Amino acid sequence: AKADGRNAVCAYTAGMSQLASRSFRIESRLQRALQEGALRLVYQPQVDVSNERIVGAEALLRWTDDGQAVPPAEFIPVAEETDLILQIGEWVLREACRQAAGWQCSGHAPLSVAVNLSARQFRDPNLVELIGSILRESGLPPECLELEITESTLMSRLDDTCQRLQALSAMGVRMAVDDFGTGYSSLSYLKRFPVSRLKVDQSFMRDLCTDAEDAAIVDAVVALARALGLDALAEGVETAEQLEALRDTGCRYCQGYYFSRPLPAEAFARLVAVDDGE
Ligand code: C2E
Ligand code: CA
Ligand code: CA
Ligand code: CA
Repeated sequence: AKADGRNAVCAYTAGMSQLASRSFRIESRLQRALQEGALRLVYQPQVDVSNERIVGAEALLRWTDDGQAVPPAEFIPVAEETDLILQIGEWVLREACRQAAGWQCSGHAPLSVAVNLSARQFRDPNLVELIGSILRESGLPPECLELEITESTLMSRLDDTCQRLQALSAMGVRMAVDDFGTGYSSLSYLKRFPVSRLKVDQSFMRDLCTDAEDAAIVDAVVALARALGLDALAEGVETAEQLEALRDTGCRYCQGYYFSRPLPAEAFARLVAVDDGE
């Protein structure tokens, strides 16, 4: 019977697609990383285009597995297939709010922290309550927390999406639409949902200075944001030329390697202190 069992296991393993077994491996290692405290956050500065001052940062998750950095694009989708994303997401929110509360004492104007929310987290009925308690426990003013949600998350469950966004915005938390321009062609949700920022997807930035079509799209998104009373933030700004082009469109905020790569929390706090000294 023992041998049979092993054969069954072998057959099962062999039958799984390579992808599925890879997912499974990532998932169990990730679960352990979460328990052992092996996840950390890095912070990429968000900058006011007009004076190049730091106004906040986006929190980005990092996982080093056996000395090897695993890109979030690889492990987040795996975590999203299970409830593991809820545990990870809760850790991210708690850690980001705790660290951002620490920045506020530095005498700098209030700094916001932007946290990415996955679709599954956004659908979690406990989300609003959870965020309320994390804010209270961290002491971070709700206005300093921004939640980044993609268009597809916003569109996935229309009925309670609006309610949930309203509850969060009533709390004082701000919402940003991430990767704007890559998802749905419908824009009507912008009218109905209390979002405050559009993050222009970085794919439009790459050829901004050479491709008239990309430039036209960025122009149009910035104009749309302005007309709706929203902020526009351009992602993936890597060069001075791109920054200059953005300035011409009137885009208010940006983020990208031109200013800084994502930094460990202490390095971000030091950068803010230098920024203050100027
Ligand atoms: P995203 O939210 O669109 O994050 C921006 C990504 O662009 C980050 O990649 C960032 O490191 C990268 N980036 C920033 N500036 C530049 C630039 O100038 N040029 C280029 N080429 N890239 C730039 P990262 O950290 O690898 O994250 C990838 C994605 O993983 C994120 O895309 C987000 O969707 C997801 N992610 C990261 N952290 C979390 C998290 O805590 N929770 C959830 N749910 N998703 C996360
Ligand atoms: Ca994001
Ligand atoms: Ca993005
Ligand atoms: Ca083109």
